[in-house]
Order: sequence, then C-alpha cells, then structure tokens
Amino acid sequence: MTLSLALLGSTGSIGHSTLEVVRHHPERLSISTLAARGSDVDALVAQAREFEPALIAVHDEEAARELATRLPGVEVVSGSEGVLAAAAHPDVDRVVAAMVGAAGLAPAWAALDAGKDLALANKEALVVAGPLLQGLARRRGVEIVPIDSEHVALHQALRCGEPAEVRRLVLTASGGPFRQRRGDWAEITPAEALAHPTWSMGRKISIDSATLMNKGLELIEAHHLFDVAPDEIDVVVHPQSQVHSFVEYVDGSWIAQLSVNDMIFSVQYALSFPDRWGNEFPRLDPAAMGSLDFEALDGERFPSVGLARQAVAAGGSAPAVFNAVNEVAVYAFLDEAIPFPSIVDTVTRVLDDHQVGAVESLEDALNWDAWGRRRAREMLAPRAGA
Ligand code: MG
Repeated sequence: MTLSLALLGSTGSIGHSTLEVVRHHPERLSISTLAARGSDVDALVAQAREFEPALIAVHDEEAARELATRLPGVEVVSGSEGVLAAAAHPDVDRVVAAMVGAAGLAPAWAALDAGKDLALANKEALVVAGPLLQGLARRRGVEIVPIDSEHVALHQALRCGEPAEVRRLVLTASGGPFRQRRGDWAEITPAEALAHPTWSMGRKISIDSATLMNKGLELIEAHHLFDVAPDEIDVVVHPQSQVHSFVEYVDGSWIAQLSVNDMIFSVQYALSFPDRWGNEFPRLDPAAMGSLDFEALDGERFPSVGLARQAVAAGGSAPAVFNAVNEVAVYAFLDEAIPFPSIVDTVTRVLDDHQVGAVESLEDALNWDAWGRRRAREMLAPRAGA
C-alpha cells in the first residue's frame, strides 16, 4: 500500500522537493493529484508523465485546455474549484499544501474537511486561520504536520516530553541576506533580496526571509501548530541554518534538530510521520561543520517579528490583515513599484490603525484577507503610480 498524495503547488520549490522525495520512495508514495497555477505547462506535462496522477488542477483556463490536449487520459480541471477538487479527491490520503500565500487557505480547508491529513508548507494558511484549521482537523480526526523546517525541528523535539514540561520554543533565523548590511536600504534591489545566503526557496518566501517577515509568520505558525503562547516562543539568529530550532524543557534541557539545509528532509518527515524512513540523502558531518554561531535578533533593524507579536496579541482579524498586507507589499517590491523598506512600513501602518474584527468562519478569514489586500493597495497606490 502506498500513501497517495495530492500535491498542491507542484511546480514551486516545495513541489520539486516533494517529487524528489516521492522518487526516492516509489514503494511508499504515489501521486494522485497535482495542482499548480498553470504558468509552466511544460513542467506539469513532464510531472504528469513521470508520476501518472489521476487528476491535474490548474488555476489558469488556457493552461487547462493545453494540458487536456497534451495529456489524454488525465482528468484536467481548472479554476479555484479545480484546486479544491484536487485537495479533496477520494484517492488521496495526505495532502501536501505547498501553495504560496493566503490563496492556499481554501484548499487546505477542503483537504481537512474531506478527512485528509495535511502536510503543510503553506504557513500563511495557519497565520490567517490557525484556530479554525486546527478545530476542523480535530473534528475530522486528522493531523496537520508541518513542512516548514523550523516547525519540523520543533515537532521532533517536542516528542521528547509532555506539553506541560515545555518551557519555551526557540526558532532559529538565518538573518537573511541583509543581516550585516550597512547603507541605504531603499537601494536594495529584488535581485539582492532574492539571494538568500543558506536556503534555496521561492520568490515570496525569499523576500519574507530578507525582511524577516518569514520569522514573524513562523512565530504565529508555531503558536497555532503547537498551542504554545507567543511569549513562550523566541527567535535567535543562527547564520549557518544548521540547527533548525530548539525546545527548552522545564528542567533546563534543550533539544535541537539538525540536518543538511535541504527541504527534502522536512518534506520526508511530514510524509513519513509518525514513522521514520531510511534514505540516501546527503548527511551532516559534525567534524566538518565548523563553528555554529548564535546572536540576538536586532528588533530595531528588523521589526517584523515584533509586528507579528503585535498581530497575534491583537487577535481576531489582525493576523490575517498582517499577512495580506505583507503579501501585497512583497509583490509590489518584486515588481519594483515600491522600495524595500516600504514592505515593513506598510504592514506597520495598516496594523497600527486596524480595528480588529472577529474570525469565526472560513468566510470571515477570506473576507479579512481581501480587506487587508484592498487596504494595502490603497496605501501603496500613490507610490506605485509615481
Ligand atoms: Mg522556515
């Protein structure tokens, strides 16, 4: 019996890592459905020929027509409804949620609602609607296992003790490409911001790593995944990215997890849990690692983690708005419509005057996400048009 997967976001960075893990474990894993935006039809055709899914969902209608022609015998569906069908497909046991941004929330919801375990790379979904997703998982008796490397580390380290024995969680942060940058931050180009020192990742998360918004999102993600209060979650800068995170227990013991910096380890963990599978992936050599450095996060140069704390403390709609404004600002920066410092500035300004509303349903969460996007566009419009 193989574990049958839906892979949502198959042409992105986590999608590639997931397919690599499937290639290493053909006796354990198979692909039932693939979903992607549809901007890279050739890649989807190659994936379909190699992994033989029953269904492919693409957001783009044009891409769906082309795929249907090139892949006779594969069911091709389109639009956001199509992605939901890929997530909830009856053949699927576990859904890899690797879409980028709050757009991944509705498919993650559909997967849980259909009783599928969720291997979650899409941290924004938990930031926008964490308590709702966790509540739905509990009602359906399914599990949300993280793919994010820090949370995979915490998930493993938390297996060493009981929840009441945990003193705090410590997320490690590489510090991104601008940890030691001097000079005018307004001159930072998208190419510089995309050049991450220790991880190879997609565009959105690379910019989030440069602003350290990624660590803010991860703090909220850890809070919802592990039910640990935000003030019991700390961040430490660790430029080598070898220690993926720590758990401190009440007796003063620290448990960390280490591996080579490659998301295949995190993906395999999320697919194999609760088991561990052997593999031939590259190994760490402690004697060759050299020194590991740790330093405090400079919250003045990088206010993002503090903003995330502000959002999660405000509760209700604030985390969804925090995330939505960040997403809009990141793409505006990538389009060279705003300078780098405007990403964090815009999130700060929207959050500071946001009147918090309730999030009691998926619809509420999606509405607040849309509200945050509109508010961000209004604030950025004069600059973007300049
Ligand atoms: Mg991470």
